[in-house]
Amino acid sequence: MSTHNFDYDTIVIGGGFAGVSAVRDLADQGYHVLLLEARNRLGGRTWSETKKVGDFEGVVEHGGQWIWSDRQINMVAEVARYGITVEHSPFPDYFPTLAHGEHNPGPLPVPLEEIYDFEKAYFRIMTDVHRITRGVPLDKQNLSDLDIPWGEYLDNLGVGPKTRAFFSFIGANNAARYPDETSALPLLAFVAGLDHSLLRTWGVVDEYLKEGTGALVNAMADDSGADIRYETPVARVEQNDDGVTVTTRAGDSFTAKTAVIATPLVCWSDIVFSPVLSPVKTAMSAERHVSYPIKFWAQVKGAPKPVATIADADSSNGAFIAFTQHDLGDDGQVIVGFFIDHPDRPSFGTDFAGVEQFIQTLYPGAELVAFDLHRWVTDEWSGNGGYVAFQPGRISQTHSELGRPEGKLFFATSDIATSFNGWIEGAVDSGKKAAVDAARQMTRDAIEVAVRAHASSAGAPVSAAR
Ligand SMILES: Cc1cc2nc3c(=O)[nH]c(=O)nc-3n(C[C@H](O)[C@H](O)[C@H](O)COP(=O)(O)OP(=O)(O)OC[C@H]3O[C@@H](n4cnc5c(N)ncnc54)[C@H](O)[C@@H]3O)c2cc1C
Repeated sequence: MSTHNFDYDTIVIGGGFAGVSAVRDLADQGYHVLLLEARNRLGGRTWSETKKVGDFEGVVEHGGQWIWSDRQINMVAEVARYGITVEHSPFPDYFPTLAHGEHNPGPLPVPLEEIYDFEKAYFRIMTDVHRITRGVPLDKQNLSDLDIPWGEYLDNLGVGPKTRAFFSFIGANNAARYPDETSALPLLAFVAGLDHSLLRTWGVVDEYLKEGTGALVNAMADDSGADIRYETPVARVEQNDDGVTVTTRAGDSFTAKTAVIATPLVCWSDIVFSPVLSPVKTAMSAERHVSYPIKFWAQVKGAPKPVATIADADSSNGAFIAFTQHDLGDDGQVIVGFFIDHPDRPSFGTDFAGVEQFIQTLYPGAELVAFDLHRWVTDEWSGNGGYVAFQPGRISQTHSELGRPEGKLFFATSDIATSFNGWIEGAVDSGKKAAVDAARQMTRDAIEVAVRAHASSAGAPVSAAR
């Protein structure tokens, strides 16, 4: 154990909610922290801007937005600590669906002729959901039989086409991939995380931060007083018995006792680690477990309001959800819509004509006035994707390993979280855990240094208890 002079106690790589939570918690304990962020802003896959979209002017959230204060204890604590206001989205009066190519006015989720199929599917899904415990890694719950393609899971339900199409929404919503590409297990785990409530899968699109997610993440970062370097992507992370050396793409190097890797899982493979990360971590990063969501904000006239529409992506050109975010009175409404922006399959365009086609597919005769969106699939720093989306056969085998520290490296991102995986809450939770683990490591190392110093001054062999 060395008494090396480090530049920092901890270097955190990546300034999304996971990284900023780790930074703030370590700084709270008096550690000297450096945050290296590739972009010119914090927040990562949450990104709020105040801007105009047609006649609407206000906060636009391009990524993570909704929280659930009943159970997301970390978000509740952060929101309270920094005086952020939680608002509710308008409660819908209309619940139309577009399943198997057919418009259904709702509120019944499927046409009456398939209502028994709906009951059968609901029961089967909820039976599987009740096998899953939130907060316990998915490789520790004997769930590999559920780690199959979502499409195969839906086929196994043995229900009519409209019921199958309706439930396929869960996959599109949580993975922004088609049913053949994504595993059923994390989708069922998502429902388990919502207190085992399938209805809440829709209902959770409700509470959001009035000032924007950016206001919260910036408040957390300001509070930390940590050194923050923007537009500083990290290229290399090297560790030895002494500590960690982090080198940026520009060639600057910084040393620290520990490092927190808080980039998206898919971005780990863009960093050279020495020694290399475990085979599981390396493979899972390289396999690109990412979703392809487009989330757009649009001023729309002539659509029902307030509305919440669910569509099955397979028959709706990738569309899966749209709902009223703001009622603009005579100027219509702000609709937030999602579709799959698949790099290899047909989808709506991301220009005016594409979004207009989406709106008219869901709301025939409605008029698109203006829109705004961000293409996550072209964003290098989110790994050319959105939230995490696990392919079949992986997470039931690897979940614990993804979060296991390696030497002086600790891992934080919602992509590997065991509680609210894929959510902002999961990001904060994983960042807080990484901070605890890094602090514990530094305490252990400090004790060891002190014990060795004492032993050598006393001339007797003494070992530190762990
Ligand atoms: C369209 C969309 C809608 C969503 N909706 C919701 C929602 O309503 N509610 C919810 O809870 N969640 C939602 N999410 C998910 C949520 O946004 C994410 O789970 C969460 O933001 C991830 O946080 P993170 O800190 O783990 O990762 P990120 O936010 O991705 O942060 C990682 C950071 O690492 C940086 N980085 C990457 N590579 C490097 C490098 N080499 N060097 C330095 N820095 C690097 C990135 O720039 C980024 O800032 C949504 C996501 C998307 C895309």
